[in-house]
Order: sequence, then structure tokens, then C-alpha cells
Amino acid sequence: MINRTELKNNWSVFLDRDGVINKPFPGGYVRKPSEFTFLPGSLFAFNLLSNIFKNIFIVTNQQGIGKGIMTIRELEDIHRQMLGKIKENGGRIDRIFFCPDLASKKPNCRKPGLAMAQMVKKEFPAIDFRKSYMVGDSLSDMEFGKNAEMQCVFIRSNDNDETNVSNIPVYSSLLEFARTL
Ligand SMILES: [Mg+2]
Repeated sequence: MINRTELKNNWSVFLDRDGVINKPFPGGYVRKPSEFTFLPGSLFAFNLLSNIFKNIFIVTNQQGIGKGIMTIRELEDIHRQMLGKIKENGGRIDRIFFCPDLASKKPNCRKPGLAMAQMVKKEFPAIDFRKSYMVGDSLSDMEFGKNAEMQCVFIRSNDNDETNVSNIPVYSSLLEFARTL
């Protein structure tokens, strides 16, 4: 267990969005603020995480943009609402990184590739990925974290039952993870 002073001074937490912070939209993409619903406890989790970590980032694949199902402006509207609610509840997110690319585009910036990690490094050169957690609900999140040498944490929700996460700590929610720190 890493002590709280060390976490506060030096550690970052990287969060996937859909399935970690909010409910994945059934059969598709969250396209507008009204389709965004926080998962139980995730707002309070940000309150805790904000007091624990030096940096809090989101890294999210948003292929709906590449598919033309939503625009970057709509994504920004969703994030503005999300950040507002998190702030109202005493939490914060320092920066959101997203990849709009289609999975079929080569090369692309999607997890598990490290393009978003490179974007982070460019903007925040002091970040040490070996002093970072990656919290996600899919294997691609775990591979991204592993590729960047982060500590991985898996959130097992109702509709993801990915089994092959041996040697990775598994929690039922972001709040459950935050409470262990
Ligand atoms: Mg996810």
C-alpha cells in the first residue's frame, strides 16, 4: 500500500469514462448530456480521489465521433456537465483526453495504444506513469495501463464480465477502489 503523502505528492490516477464514471449507454454511445448518468457512488468517489491524488485524468475512446454519430462539440457539452457535477460535489478532474478515431483507422489514438499517454506526457512532462493507476472496465484499458507501466485496477460492472484479469485488483465500483486507498 502506497502511503497517502506519497499519493498526494507524486501519484496520478487515470480513469476510463464509460463503465467507470458513468453507465455505458445501452447499445451505443452517450451522445448528449441527458444520456449521461453517473454510476452509483462515482460522484462521491471523485470527492475522495481529489484529496488523495496529485493528478486526476480521464482517458477515453470515443469512436462515436469517428462514426459521425456525435460531434466533438456534443462530447464537450457532456464533459462540461460532468465536470460541473463533479465540482459541485467537491471533486475535480484535471484534464480529459479523448480519442475520436475509428478502430479501423490505422494508426489511431485509441487505447490500448499509447497515443493518449504520449499526449499526457506532452502536456504534463512531470507525470511518472510508474506512479500512476489506470482504472478501467475493459481489457483494452488494462493493456493500455500495462503498456504504459501503470498500476492497473479493474472495475467489474454488471454488463462486463471479462474474466481474464488475473493479477489485477478487481473492484465493483470506482468508490470501492477509492475507499481502499
Ligand atoms: Mg469503459
